[in-house]
Amino acid sequence: MNTAPNPLLFALLGDPVSHSVSPAMQSAALTAKNLDGIYLPIQVGSSDLRSAVRGLAALGFRGANITLPHKETILPMLDAISDDARTLGAVNTIVIDRDSAGVSRIVGHNTDHLGVVYALEKAGHSIRGSQAIVIGAGGAARAAVFGLIRSQADEIVILARRADQGARIVRALGSAGTRLRVRRFDTENLIRESERATLLIHATPIGMRPKTNDSVWPDLRPIPPHLTVFDVVYTPTQTKLVLQAKASGVPIVSGLEMLIRQAAQSFLLWTDREAPVGAMRDAAHRALEEAV
Ligand code: NAP
Repeated sequence: MNTAPNPLLFALLGDPVSHSVSPAMQSAALTAKNLDGIYLPIQVGSSDLRSAVRGLAALGFRGANITLPHKETILPMLDAISDDARTLGAVNTIVIDRDSAGVSRIVGHNTDHLGVVYALEKAGHSIRGSQAIVIGAGGAARAAVFGLIRSQADEIVILARRADQGARIVRALGSAGTRLRVRRFDTENLIRESERATLLIHATPIGMRPKTNDSVWPDLRPIPPHLTVFDVVYTPTQTKLVLQAKASGVPIVSGLEMLIRQAAQSFLLWTDREAPVGAMRDAAHRALEEAV
């Protein structure tokens, strides 16, 4: 039998993990809440994932974040999966519960879509009834589409360079309330769709370090004033797309805020306490500055 140890133990499982700001955010959250806890980044290769997850339970860990490349492959290794994580086909948080006999149960969750929704709310953007463009068709795009559907967006156009990937999102998440379309991602389609959209969510790695001169938006063309721009890329926080949005004077939603909000939801799942979002935000900024 295993009882939960003091301090509370949490982990990040991924490969690699050294670049992650999650340890800084979660450690700051534990400190701010006066909780005796430790959050450890642990690099785990795919072939060791199953034993690593069981090992966390055996060692009395309370939970973990799951990052690339394990977010999808971990699903069959868990005892239960939340409805949201099952619909998204990806897990970014596990919670390890114990019954009175000390038998553990590992439950998978996904908080990425909540990160999208809360980041939009923080920026004062009302999702309900909005017309959104989502560029990309990977994990971040899927989370964005799910979050928008759940918050009753009117229409979402997925711009994907591989239409079949976009179509897969529509099949998995298709809803009666929100119209979903898929178009090929190119500049012409982006500009055409931007004429009537209210929200542009960029969810590909374009503009990420080290290729910080790249942007999905063409040079020398202002972004239409009716668009809110949300770049999920947060390394750097001021991506070229964000700088273009600033120059055009349109509202901006921060990818870093999405990261902070999904982390805050993980913290809530593990501790049953509201996360200290301000402390997590400060820690995330510090960690990113130190990483440059
Ligand atoms: P992913 O699952 O690998 O998906 C990436 C998507 O972008 C795929 O649809 C890919 O298309 C597309 N793509 C890649 N390069 C492209 C290009 N040059 N032109 C057009 N499309 C391109 O990755 P992800 O997990 O969604 O992550 C995407 C970005 O979001 C990364 O920068 C990541 O750091 C960031 N992210 C941020 C947060 C946050 O909390 N702020 C959370 C998750 C991810 P193909 O499949 O055809 O390659």
